[in-house]
Amino acid sequence: MEEVVVIIGAGPAGLASSACLNRLGIPNIILEREDCYASLWRKKAYDRVKLHLAKQFCELPYMPYPPNLPMFVPKNDFISYLDNYASHFGINPRFHCSVESVYYDKIASKWCILVKNTNLQTTEVYIAKFLVVATGENSEGLIPKVPGLDGFEGMFMHSSQYENGKDFVGKNVLVVGCGNSGMEIAYDLFYWGAHTSIVARSPVHVVSKEIVFLGMCLLKYLPYRLVDFIAITASKINFGDISKYGIQRPTEGPFYIKATTGRSPTIDVGAVQKIKTGEIQVFPSIACIKGNEITFENGKSKQYDAIIFATGYRSTVLDWLKDGKELFNGNGMPKLRFPNHWKGENGIYCAGFSQKGLMGISVDAQSIAADIGLAWKGTTYDVIGGPYSVLQLNMAMVLKSCEELALQACIATSACLNRLKIPNIVFEREDCCGSLWKKRTYDRLKLHIPKQYCELPYMPYPSNAPTFVPRNGFIAYLDEYVSHFVVIPRYNRSVEHAFYDADAGKWRIEVKNVFSHAREVYVAQFLVVATGENAEGVIPDVPGLAGFAGEYMHASQFSNGRKYSGKDVLAVGSWNSGMEISYDLCQSRYMWSQRKCSEKKEKAVFPILSQSAVAFSALRAHGCINSA
Ligand SMILES: Cc1cc2nc3c(=O)[nH]c(=O)nc-3n(C[C@H](O)[C@H](O)[C@H](O)COP(=O)(O)OP(=O)(O)OC[C@H]3O[C@@H](n4cnc5c(N)ncnc54)[C@H](O)[C@@H]3O)c2cc1C
Repeated sequence: MEEVVVIIGAGPAGLASSACLNRLGIPNIILEREDCYASLWRKKAYDRVKLHLAKQFCELPYMPYPPNLPMFVPKNDFISYLDNYASHFGINPRFHCSVESVYYDKIASKWCILVKNTNLQTTEVYIAKFLVVATGENSEGLIPKVPGLDGFEGMFMHSSQYENGKDFVGKNVLVVGCGNSGMEIAYDLFYWGAHTSIVARSPVHVVSKEIVFLGMCLLKYLPYRLVDFIAITASKINFGDISKYGIQRPTEGPFYIKATTGRSPTIDVGAVQKIKTGEIQVFPSIACIKGNEITFENGKSKQYDAIIFATGYRSTVLDWLKDGKELFNGNGMPKLRFPNHWKGENGIYCAGFSQKGLMGISVDAQSIAADIGLAWKGTTYDVIGGPYSVLQLNMAMVLKSCEELALQACIATSACLNRLKIPNIVFEREDCCGSLWKKRTYDRLKLHIPKQYCELPYMPYPSNAPTFVPRNGFIAYLDEYVSHFVVIPRYNRSVEHAFYDADAGKWRIEVKNVFSHAREVYVAQFLVVATGENAEGVIPDVPGLAGFAGEYMHASQFSNGRKYSGKDVLAVGSWNSGMEISYDLCQSRYMWSQRKCSEKKEKAVFPILSQSAVAFSALRAHGCINSA
């Protein structure tokens, strides 16, 4: 069977991808090994589970939750939401289709998908131009190797098999793992009258749902470190020092860990109180099991009737994906980090592997549909030595290289075009939007103009944002803007040439993929250039600069003055960047260098260009810079 797009997996990521494709009119089918969609939630999630994040952070594209649902949506309501979602977007997965093997046929330039129909016990082959892998991070429950587990005389299971504590009343049960599932199952067992213990091997942050919600909201305006500090302080006030009960905290903060590894903090559902009263016991790792007796690393032993392993999952993608593996690492998780992790070579995509839960799924699905939408209209042929993908697009095309004004102009233009439903694409040579602000501005920077004069169309700053929005606040605003108006730039695309083809009456734009070095040619009716004034820092020709023995750099490479404390520094240029950097250096000097005055001084110079090089009198008067 030949298809345009095959999606493997009918969990939230598969449904969201299909919905986004359907909205663009791109034919697609979903293959699902189970007899229903959302099987993880229907069959492998315990009764008590609720979404751990507030509902506004768990929406799939284009469908909010009903307003009457609680902030933390219970399992059955989430399943109903997915039922409505599938019916609203006309999604009918093919059930009992277990994908056994997938490879890329280079001659046909198509994906071949071998499927076992578990109902009919037949094998089917699907051929597709595009393949979306949406089989999730939780395909298979993981039970670690524990010495003696094979001889354990009680029963053991993975958390994905646990429904509720009905069968464990009055029994001694050990839960292994103190992540979200472990803590919630331990509480559930206690609630049903089991004598419950929990193994807390790794350090975890335990926080309340409310703190997580507050943190997620604050992250839009404050840096991670500050939000982490608030969250840790709040949970210490809430729970006290839980390390004395055997649960250690990691050295990094909960939101930093979530952002860098995807691991969520453990949300308390009531277990902490029971741990504090001793009604749920905490033990370190299991050392060994003999019969019914389990011995822990601290030398203590206890008899158990059952063990529940809440020890996580693994993705099975590498078991059946023959080609396209380059997208994933040895754990079956994407090698590339967000936001580019979803795209591989030859039309393969992965949805729902961002480790950002349902929020990440929503972004993946929209990015994938937009990308397939563009490529689907194209054809591929060879021109002078290399494959060129030529897209005939009757659309506006927005070029951008992410500079201060360009950034706003570009994102805003795309948002305005989106509002008018005019198809458009944005090219960005960096791997993120707002790269000038994210990568090339100093820490101290704030918008120099009051916020009401710095708004992009149709979105004011939050009312509690300060008048002069700091760098992180502005970055958060841009991220929010891009997500709200579904502006999905094609990242890592550097525009090399653009010229007007008078015969065709169209613009021809040649773009280089900075990762694969593949060249792509786009043809568009309209072209918006929003590459900004600040594409490249300028350092003037200063006689003797090449032989300067100290360090020199452009303002765009400067983060803060900490490492220059006690040194003699010349800032060249006295407009906003120059003056602010000088002030930062001066502050660093006061803050960090009092004790270093007698140290050997090294010279550094910061040419800050297109500005006067010598208006330093005020700073010089304070003795903060050296007017060499
Ligand atoms: C208990 C629990 C609670 C959670 N709570 C939250 C939360 O509060 N917020 C949040 O954002 N995230 C939460 N998550 C994360 C969870 O990963 C997502 O909610 C979501 O279910 C992931 O969707 P998915 O479509 O990527 O994967 P899944 O839901 O796992 O769907 C993948 C589908 O692919 C199918 N499949 C796998 N292999 C094959 C194959 N070879 N052939 C055909 N079909 C195949 C599976 O049967 C499955 O239906 C939770 C996860 C668990 C386990």
